[in-house]
Amino acid sequence: MTPAMDRKLQLYKHGCERAVIFCYANNLPPPLAFINRKLKKDTCFYDPKTTKVTVDVSATATPVLKPHHMCWSWPAFKTDRTAVGVPCHETGHHIQFHLMKERIWDRRWNTLYANTPKITSYEPVASEAFAETMRLYILNPQLLAMYSPLRYAFIKDNLGLSAIEERDPYEVVGNPNYNARIKELIRG
Ligand SMILES: [Zn+2]
Repeated sequence: MTPAMDRKLQLYKHGCERAVIFCYANNLPPPLAFINRKLKKDTCFYDPKTTKVTVDVSATATPVLKPHHMCWSWPAFKTDRTAVGVPCHETGHHIQFHLMKERIWDRRWNTLYANTPKITSYEPVASEAFAETMRLYILNPQLLAMYSPLRYAFIKDNLGLSAIEERDPYEVVGNPNYNARIKELIRG
């Protein structure tokens, strides 16, 4: 195995752990399993029938140590397509599916989706926006709170989900190369 792949697998393990801890902390059943396997088209998907998450870890983004023009992706940053963020994004789909099944899903999300700034460019529909928002809430809730207070409040107050990370956004990201970008996001 290449060192790069070995690193991705470590990140993946961490991402799955954070997702599971978040579910347990909120009395939600976690996804039944996280499966790493080669996929032909997508990087990942969630199957609501089995409640399993599948991730092609080899296809996840390599963390960008020094962000540059249009190129940034880092564990727990606003854009995180690494093996940490991907299982948490899929767990976001799982959580939405579970809340809808339990009839505690709040339709106000659709309005909020249309009227708040996007977390990342990948928000083609309200459910993807929710998964992206949930990923950031699981991994770096204070960054979400400062960047998008309305989305943060929706998850915390309307859905009643508690955060599992209390450290400030800079500490959570833990890479000084991202500090200037975090500062920009927080200032709005
Ligand atoms: Zn998705």
